[in-house]
Formats: sequence, C-alpha cells, structure tokens
Amino acid sequence: MAFAAIHPEAGRVDATLLDLGCGLSWTMVHKVRPRIALRCPDCGYGVHAKVSARKLRYFAHDPGRPADCAWLNESLEHHLLKLELASRVRDAGWHAELEVRADDGTWRADVLASAHDGIRRIAWEAQLSPITDDDIRDRTERYRGEGIEVCWVSPAETVVPWMSKVPSIRVRDPRGGDSWAVVDGVARFDFQNGVWIVVEDLDLTRFIRWVLHEQTAPHQVLPRYRRVWLPSEHGYGRRQLIWTTQRSVGEEARHDAMRQRQEAWRREQEEKKQQAEQLRKEEEARQREAQRLEEERQREIRAEAERVRLEEQKRQWAIEAEQARQRREAEELQRQEQAAAAERERLLKEQQRLLQEQQELQAAQRWWDELSLKQIQQLQEAVAEPLWKKEGARLEFAPDVPTADTAYGIAARLRHRLYGILRPSPASLYRLPSTVPIYVRNAREAQLLIDTGKIEPVRIVSFDFPDHEQMFLI
Ligand SMILES: [Zn+2]
Repeated sequence: MAFAAIHPEAGRVDATLLDLGCGLSWTMVHKVRPRIALRCPDCGYGVHAKVSARKLRYFAHDPGRPADCAWLNESLEHHLLKLELASRVRDAGWHAELEVRADDGTWRADVLASAHDGIRRIAWEAQLSPITDDDIRDRTERYRGEGIEVCWVSPAETVVPWMSKVPSIRVRDPRGGDSWAVVDGVARFDFQNGVWIVVEDLDLTRFIRWVLHEQTAPHQVLPRYRRVWLPSEHGYGRRQLIWTTQRSVGEEARHDAMRQRQEAWRREQEEKKQQAEQLRKEEEARQREAQRLEEERQREIRAEAERVRLEEQKRQWAIEAEQARQRREAEELQRQEQAAAAERERLLKEQQRLLQEQQELQAAQRWWDELSLKQIQQLQEAVAEPLWKKEGARLEFAPDVPTADTAYGIAARLRHRLYGILRPSPASLYRLPSTVPIYVRNAREAQLLIDTGKIEPVRIVSFDFPDHEQMFLI
C-alpha cells in the first residue's frame, strides 16, 4: 500500500493530490485500459491504482510482489497518518511529497516537506513499529547529513522509548473530532517554577505551521531541567529533546543563569558558614587545648603539693619515730634505773632488817644474860602458880630458844592457846601481838618496857623478884 508511484511518462504521481502532482487526474491512472505501467518508487515492482472502501486513493503492488519493499507491509493507520501529515504541510503552504526515496537509497521519507524556495526540507516520519534508539538516531543523522530536518511522529497511546531522544512528537487521532492533536514532545518553560511543562493538547496543524515557520525547534533540555511536568499525569517524566519556542529556550537559559547565581551565592554562603564553622572549631580546639594545659598544670601543682606533703609527712613520721624511740630508750633507762634503785632500796631495807634483827638478837641475849636459869624458872612458876592453884590448869612454856615473833620473850600457852609472853626484849616489843599480857620479874623491868613507848602499862604484869640472884647466894 502506497500513495506514490512512478508514471512511465509523467514521472512521480501522488494519489493524495488532485492533479497527482503532475497535471494528471486520478481517472487517467485508475482502471485505465490498456493498463499504464506504474511502478513502486521504492522497489520498482509494478503497482496499480486502487480506491479503498473509505474512498481512500492509493497504489497496490501487483501480484507476486517482492517481500522486502518498504511500503509493502505498512498498515492503513500508517498510511492515514502519513496522509494527515502531508495534508497539514500543504495547508501550511509548503510542498509535501509522500514516500520519497533518496537516489542513493540512504533515506526514505514518509512525507518530505519543502519550502517553496526549495532550500529548507523537513522529513516527517510516521513511526508505528518498534525501533531501537541506535537505529532512529542513525536515521536522524543521515537526514541531517543531507541537510534535511526531521520530526518523528508516534501515534502510540503511551510514550515510546525513543521519544525525546530525537526530534519527536506523539499525536492523538481525531477520536470523532475533526483534527489531530499533539500530546507530547512539545513543551514550554515555566520560569516561575523553573520547570518545563509538556503541552498536551496542541492542534497538529498549528504545530506543523510553527515548525515550518521556525517558531518552534528541537531543543536539548539543559540536564538540570530534564525532569518535566506532565499535566495529565499530575507527575514528572524525563525528556531530553523537546520542541519549543525560542522564548522558552531563553527563559530556561535565564532561569539557569539565575539558579547558577543563586547556587553560587548559596555555595558562597555555605563556604562562609563552613569557614566560620572551621574557625569556631579551631577556636574551640584552642580553648580545649588551653583548658587541658591548664588542667594539666593544676594537676601537676596538686601532685607536687601532694608530693611535698607526703615528704613532709614522711619526715614528720621519721621525727616522731625517732622521738618515740628516744622516749622508749629513756623509759627503758628510767625503768632500769628505777629497778636498780628499788633493788638498792630492797637491799638496804634487807640490810637494815638484818641489822635490826642482829641488834635485837644481841639486845635479847644481853637481856636474858642478866638472868640465871633459876631466875627464869622462878618467873615461870610465878606466872603458872595462880592458874594451877585456882583452876588446876597447867601452863606450857615454849621449850625453844626465844624467837623474834614473841619479841624474844617466852611464850606461855594454856591448852595450846597463847596465854601470855614472859619478859619480851625491850628492843623488840613492836613485834608483839597487841592484846596478849606481858609478864616481867619486877617494876624495874616493867619500867624498862614502858620507857620504850611501844606498850601500854596496863598490859604488863610484874612480880617482885630482885634483880640479882647473888644476893640470895650471899
Ligand atoms: Zn514496492
């Protein structure tokens, strides 16, 4: 299915034009006998003019057609879009050719629009089948190499992968209305929000007129603005190459410059802030270091003071220990001296006691030497007799030599109890038990005892014996 064919005499014929583009009429090629040898512009195989049920004029390959012809497998939808594009181009006052092929076969345009001066040419490509990004870029480059601009047109319901990677638009069929609309690929820059907004309902005729009259052109969106607003989706999508006006391009540049100024200003502010922060940190570090040094200094001072204090304490302890040692030594010495003194005292007292005892003993010997044995017996009898006569009680006299505990007197016992002491020595009276009666020979002896002051006179019982025995012997 194609809209163009090669006429053996008239050359290229276009089924979409009233004069077929060469001064002929449709009736001169359609159902003409004998048949005109029309050929396919692409593959050169024979074609014949046809009219569809919807009154659409076109050319169809003759039976036995080759499988590799570019126009061969195109759908009706494709053909209708091509026809629409060509019609819109013509409406805008430009020349439009369908299914144009480069002489050397490097490109093949669905619709080739040409200005009347023939200098500016724009290819309009109705791209319905899938195509890789590389292929579509390659084909775009080939057009550019020939000085031909291009606009790829997709009638798909959703965005195709190559959209905005090459100059492209997405269109929507009339849907019962009378005109096609551009729904993607065209955008305007909103300076207020700093964002590109896709124009989603633009009349196709208007768009094509804008393109042909250079009121809109493909524009590489600055990287920072490739997130564009899609009003119908109430969301963002990425677009790289869009159709737009010079005014929007200018707005984008102006916004970018403003943004860069703002960013530079922000960076500057941030740098200033960082510098201030850095200075603050350095100052803090300095203060911390100073504080640390001061604390260290204080610690050292305290440590030194503590060391001095400990030294002083040790010295004090040493002094105290030395003093204690000296005190102990002195005490020991004193104790030893006291012990020695006590010992001397004890020895002295012992000596005195012994001396006293010796003196007392000597005195007692002299005392008893005054008497003969007979005189002693005489006294014993005098003491014992009254008891014997009165009670029949017999006194016992200690047979031993008189001892110190009876003051060197003779102890008299009645039934083993001390009854009295006979003639104690005057020098030893202090040794006597305090209550026992004392017996002496006469008043002279009694007076001798009383004169010592050691005994009360009432305790003394005296007889009346003479002092000297020899008086009886005479
Ligand atoms: Zn062909």
